[in-house]
Amino acid sequence: MDLHGIGYSNIRLPNDRSSYIYTYNSIINTFPEEVFVHEFLHSLERILQERNYEIPELHDYEKYGYKEEKLVGLKEWYKDYMNCNIKSSDGKLVGLDSEVYTITPPANSDFKYSTEIEFNKEPQNIIEEIKNVFTVVFRMFGIK
Ligand SMILES: [Zn+2]
Repeated sequence: MDLHGIGYSNIRLPNDRSSYIYTYNSIINTFPEEVFVHEFLHSLERILQERNYEIPELHDYEKYGYKEEKLVGLKEWYKDYMNCNIKSSDGKLVGLDSEVYTITPPANSDFKYSTEIEFNKEPQNIIEEIKNVFTVVFRMFGIK
């Protein structure tokens, strides 16, 4: 998920324990942890893209011949992506450059324009959503 160009991954889980998302089902939720891995890898992907590294897009697994497998989803793709072990068409191995693992976590200064999300006050309709977007944009330009 991209939040106003900042680069932001957010995974929300319902409070309702009876929600289907907490149910293991080999058809619906094959590899529930995958969503965490996936969003985390987007963060790493973005870090390298912002530093002008040429790396495969996280969503391009099919271009490199990977398939979503039953039970384990895209585990092989993620493993090779993280280990820079994807064979590209020109025979090179591509994926995340290992430098990404040495980059320190973001500092407060990286969130100059961020706004705290109030999860209890989420927009309930499109009008509220549009109002929220304008509020954030106005704040970015120092307009109240
Ligand atoms: Zn994604």
